[in-house]
Amino acid sequence: MVPLTIHVKSPDSQSVVILGGGLAGLAAADRLSDLGYRVTLVERRPLLGGALIEDSPYDGPEPFTILGCHHATQALLHSLHAGSQQPADITIPLEFRLPDGSFVHYPRTSFPAPLHTWVNLLRFAGIPWKERWRLASWVEQLWEGDAELPADLEQRTAADWLASIGQSAQTRSLVWNPLAQWLTGNDLATMSADAFVRSMKPVFLSTHPDSRISVVQDSLLACFVQPITQRLRQQHATILYNTDATQIRYEQDRISGVQLRNGSLLQADWYVIALPPQQLTPLIPERWLTRYAYFQQLSELQSFDSTIVDVHIEQPCVSPRLILLNDTAFHSALITASAPDRTGITLTTTDNPFAQTRTDSRHDAAIPDLLRSWGLLASECKVVSIRRRTISNAILSLKPGAKSHRPIQRSPIENLLVAGAWTDTGWPPNLESAIVSGNRCAEAIALDRPT
Ligand SMILES: Cc1cc2nc3c(=O)[nH]c(=O)nc-3n(C[C@H](O)[C@H](O)[C@H](O)COP(=O)(O)OP(=O)(O)OC[C@H]3O[C@@H](n4cnc5c(N)ncnc54)[C@H](O)[C@@H]3O)c2cc1C
Repeated sequence: MVPLTIHVKSPDSQSVVILGGGLAGLAAADRLSDLGYRVTLVERRPLLGGALIEDSPYDGPEPFTILGCHHATQALLHSLHAGSQQPADITIPLEFRLPDGSFVHYPRTSFPAPLHTWVNLLRFAGIPWKERWRLASWVEQLWEGDAELPADLEQRTAADWLASIGQSAQTRSLVWNPLAQWLTGNDLATMSADAFVRSMKPVFLSTHPDSRISVVQDSLLACFVQPITQRLRQQHATILYNTDATQIRYEQDRISGVQLRNGSLLQADWYVIALPPQQLTPLIPERWLTRYAYFQQLSELQSFDSTIVDVHIEQPCVSPRLILLNDTAFHSALITASAPDRTGITLTTTDNPFAQTRTDSRHDAAIPDLLRSWGLLASECKVVSIRRRTISNAILSLKPGAKSHRPIQRSPIENLLVAGAWTDTGWPPNLESAIVSGNRCAEAIALDRPT
């Protein structure tokens, strides 16, 4: 068969090939096609949406959380559902489970910033009074400019730094570790203090609306993937499903095309690679890997798996909750109504090989008892189903030093941009980071537009 060369160049508008149809690739595609670029989106799977979307549709709830500080995610959601009904979201409290089995809320007062941060912290009963006071005074000194964050935060672990500011081992394990795991997938012992501070700041040290945690009951598919796909079709973008990019072709220091597994070559003016780092590196020409630190550093990034266990129980959900857990295989339990008479509980764990949090399907039989011991399942209620799925390389390790290996979106190659939740956005790798990275790629391309 003669290999086919597909020129997606167009005489009247510039063309862009985007590799990867996760949220980062979709955000870039959405913006660029809206700006009039001819977009071709290449996705190796039969469906868009990335790692979180499953191949076989599942009729249970797949709720996800958005924080008030996730402004790019909120803006995209609003633009996709403008005029129509916005996906229903519910504000949920943040709860911690204490060793005596009780639950404690992180308070949310509506005082103006920064007063509300200080009041919330002082009222939070999950931390012993003395430590709370010490922390609140330290936060106040930061505001006043009387104290500064140490310059070596990226070189130390979060556990080490928290200990140095007087947070006891108990507080670290009951409060800070589950919080870090929920926000970043990483635990205190392995993540850098800088990554920890950056993940906490927008949620806890910002305005009252930014600290809002909401759960969206609709799936990511319904909220983002389907409406973006629809918009792309309206703008005549091309979407290639089941299509694997295998190699980047180059001339001098520009990409000249992307080789696909089916033998075709895709050519465009611009290329956005929105793949995880493990899938990006094999595509990069050897010459660029040896020549540019930008590409070399990608091999330093490490990821680990994440496992989600979805449990359905025959019990109405009175109110959705997010409970952060300590000392168990799971770091969080998201409790939502999957049907009027059913509750869905999403238990999440990260399979960090360096941490003691691994769990496998042999533990599933014990899950009903675990839920009962946490007071989340009444003794007479029945578990309808338990479903486990592991997402490979879902969590980027934010260990000390990792920050400098997260690449910015503009690469040293003139017509190549890199997107993905794992790139340097200032956010931990989450939906917000994926969308911000995609938006930045689109903005960088648009800035280069000939006038
Ligand atoms: C268990 C779990 C729960 C989460 N829950 C939340 C949440 O509630 N809120 C939140 O903000 N964030 C959450 N996140 C994080 C968030 O979902 C991800 O960070 C984000 O979806 C990543 O998007 P991405 O586009 O960067 O990457 P990906 O989703 O990994 O997309 C990359 C795409 O590239 C495709 N691809 C790979 N190789 C090739 C190739 N050679 N050719 C063509 N295509 C290729 C892949 O198939 C994939 O579709 C969660 C993550 C996990 C793991």
